[in-house]
Amino acid sequence: MFQESRQTWSDADRQRHQAQRFDRMVEEIRRANPFYQRKWGSLAEKQLNYEHLESFPLTTKKELQEDQQRNPPFGTNLTNPFADYIRLHQTSGTTGTPLRVLDTAESWRWWAECWQYILDAAGVTREDVVMPAFSFGPFVGFWSAQEALAHYGALMVPGGGMDSAQRLAVMAEAGVTVLLCTPSYAIHLAQVGLAQGIDPAKNLKVRITIHAGEPGAGIPATRERIETLWGATSFDHPGASEIGAFGFSCSARTGVHVNEAEFIAEVIDPDSGRPVASGEAGELVLTNLGRTGFPVVRYRSGDTVKAVRAGACSCGRTTLFLEGGILGRNDDMVTIRGVNVFPSAFQEILNRLPGVVEHRITAYRRGQMDELHVEIECENTADRLSEAGRAIRDALGIRVSLAQCPPDTLPRFELKARRFFDRRNEGWLPEGELPS
Ligand SMILES: [Zn+2]
Repeated sequence: MFQESRQTWSDADRQRHQAQRFDRMVEEIRRANPFYQRKWGSLAEKQLNYEHLESFPLTTKKELQEDQQRNPPFGTNLTNPFADYIRLHQTSGTTGTPLRVLDTAESWRWWAECWQYILDAAGVTREDVVMPAFSFGPFVGFWSAQEALAHYGALMVPGGGMDSAQRLAVMAEAGVTVLLCTPSYAIHLAQVGLAQGIDPAKNLKVRITIHAGEPGAGIPATRERIETLWGATSFDHPGASEIGAFGFSCSARTGVHVNEAEFIAEVIDPDSGRPVASGEAGELVLTNLGRTGFPVVRYRSGDTVKAVRAGACSCGRTTLFLEGGILGRNDDMVTIRGVNVFPSAFQEILNRLPGVVEHRITAYRRGQMDELHVEIECENTADRLSEAGRAIRDALGIRVSLAQCPPDTLPRFELKARRFFDRRNEGWLPEGELPS
């Protein structure tokens, strides 16, 4: 296991390590980072340490975005002199203005270091041939993986600048054994292959897939679908451009571990800001310990998780474990007649229905009530609506409005999939539905 002592340590050892790293970083930030100097202005000297972590104010993405708008182009969350920065990336989020994030040579090495844990936990070896199937855009996922693979010592095959058919051809020619991409794209790429007479599970050598960018690989039905299509073992890797590569699934694959050597994780009630009990759903708050040049301290990830720290996982790690991975985005939650529903829950239901290949969910309002409209797309025109409606009722206990689209009409995704649209404040209604 990579850095085994930092993955199997006791609570006391972890806290000692985190305290040392955190206090050193806070010292540097206080000296030179205008964003946090302003933010921490009201904290007393004696509060500025790990022991008083909970008195540090939370940081939000909106604050960082607004800071960059007021101080273009990079904002004031910069601890180092400008000349120290060597990499610029942008958040790939589906909403809002992209956030620009900068790395120094030191923090860029840190990204690569964080990835070593992920590759190691997935069982990647130096004999593997790895393709990150991402375009060479401003999304940090591709670039950090590429940097990490060079350090890891596995052969990297670029997967940018080509369409799906070309990627499949390159994968076959180079004997690619590890595929890195979003879960949605893994499904799409396999389907493109099947349509062209290439069965990825039989004709390609891929044995491991690692998925970032969206939660799918943590959802059992989606993971099983990917594994069947590719004949491979799939791993989840949550991370974010502004936070870092903070989590990864292990051999247990029932959730993800947080890399607590490089991140401090807290789970809070999103309304009160107070910590929730172990195993209770809350918002994941992260502090990165190796990116002093562009740090986030107590950053609200917007991700809903259930975290447990109950001894060792079957893989031997004692680090914080997020059951089921990232369960959903806080701001995506919809309350349907008293039932809280994350749109990502539909992946678990719909990916289990044979023939359903894509879906799209729209939240809307009928009078005062929140409602969901679910569109499904199937391999052929066979009617799956009643089956889908029944599966949703059984799993969630709610009724939704349903429609089936003709094949090849819903969008496919190479980066973050966008399957959820919130139109509750737009007066939108599904076609044919009359206002109540
Ligand atoms: Zn584990």
